[in-house]
Formats: sequence, structure tokens, C-alpha cells
Amino acid sequence: MSDTNNEKHQQRQQKVKDKVDERIAAAQIEKGIFQVITGNGKGKSTSGFGTVTRCVGHGMKAAVCQFIKGTWPCGERNLLQGAGVEFAIMNTGFTWETQNKESDTAAAQATWQEAKRMLCDESINLVLLDEITYMITYGYIDLEEALEVISNRPAMQSVIVTGRGAHRKLTDLADTVSEVRNVKHAFDAGVKAQIGFDY
Ligand code: ATP
Ligand code: MG
Repeated sequence: MSDTNNEKHQQRQQKVKDKVDERIAAAQIEKGIFQVITGNGKGKSTSGFGTVTRCVGHGMKAAVCQFIKGTWPCGERNLLQGAGVEFAIMNTGFTWETQNKESDTAAAQATWQEAKRMLCDESINLVLLDEITYMITYGYIDLEEALEVISNRPAMQSVIVTGRGAHRKLTDLADTVSEVRNVKHAFDAGVKAQIGFDY
């Protein structure tokens, strides 16, 4: 790079830096953040668990509710339970063949009661509600109640909701919304879910 080019580059970078510094200085609010991670691509739950790890790494308290049907292995759970993270897991004898609305609703509601307890516990800094969007879509958990409980949580508590097809009212309420887009996925090329990577 010639001297004049280098100078121009430095001036441009300085302008960018000034703008970023200005925005950093303007962001002064301290509060718990409500994040929704949705979309059809891979990376929603892993992102949520990444933030749980970040929280725990600072010596803060996190809790996880997994609204999954059936008992799936979960590498993050194996690790994080050992680090003192409380997990509430929705256990149903689920198979795709025998969907049972009544028992699914009861299972979702039981885990939702745990979630509600976490969402009013000031000692918990972060609550991950993994795959809860489906429970709301199926009507197992009432949308309006979920919005109310999330809105009324302790001021410094953060919440992460993951799952495809997040309801518009959830994304409207959220402070941060990330949509993970599916560009390609190994599964479509016939690769089965891999331990230590997909679960
Ligand atoms: P992950 O837990 O890997 O972050 P996710 O939470 O974004 O994935 P889910 O819809 O909860 O995605 O699905 C969980 C499982 O399905 C994972 O094993 C993941 O690899 C797989 N999966 C996620 N997205 C896709 C996709 N677009 N096509 C096929 N399989 C997928
Ligand atoms: Mg997921």
C-alpha cells in the first residue's frame, strides 16, 4: 500500500471506530435480555447453550428447560449439570406414531411449572427455554401466559427461547432476535446425527 493509500485507509478506519465508540457510549442500559433464536438452520440450541456456558463461566447461575419429547442424549446437559446448572426436562414416552395430545400437554405443563419457578427466581441470571416454540405452536403452553411470565421476570434476568417458527408476539417482545437460516445440512446428504456434534 502506498503512503497516501495507507493514510486514506487509516482515516476511514478512524471514522468507523468513532462511530462504533459513539454507539458504545450511548448504550448505557443494564437489564436482563430476552433473546429468541429461531429459523430452520442448525445452531439454535447450541447457541443457547453457548450463552449458558458463558454465564456459568462468570460464576453466574443459569437454568435450562428442555421442551423435547422423549429422552434424547445431550452432551451439553452432561457437562453443565456437573457445573451446577439445573435442568428441567420434559419426559414423555413420545414416538411419532403415538402422538397423544393429553399426555403431551400434561408433560409440557409440568415442565412449564418448573420454567415459571425459574422465571421468578432472582438468583438465576439466565434461563434457557430450549424448543419451547413448538409447545406454544401446539397449544400445550398458552402464548399469552408465556409472554406475561417472560415480561414479569426479575429485571436483571436474561431469557433465551429457541425453536423453529417462533410466534410473532415472542419476537416482538424480544430484545434480540436471531434467525438461523438453513444454507445446507449434512443430514440432507444422508449423514446421520453425529454424537458430540449434533447432540
Ligand atoms: P443444534 O442443537 O445443533 O443447535 P438446532 O437447535 O438449531 O440444532 P433443532 O431443530 O432443535 O435445531 O434440531 C436438533 C437436531 O436436528 C440437531 O441434531 C441438528 O443437527 C438437526 N438439525 C438442525 N437443523 C437441521 C436442518 N436444517 N436439517 C436437518 N437437521 C437439522
Ligand atoms: Mg434445538
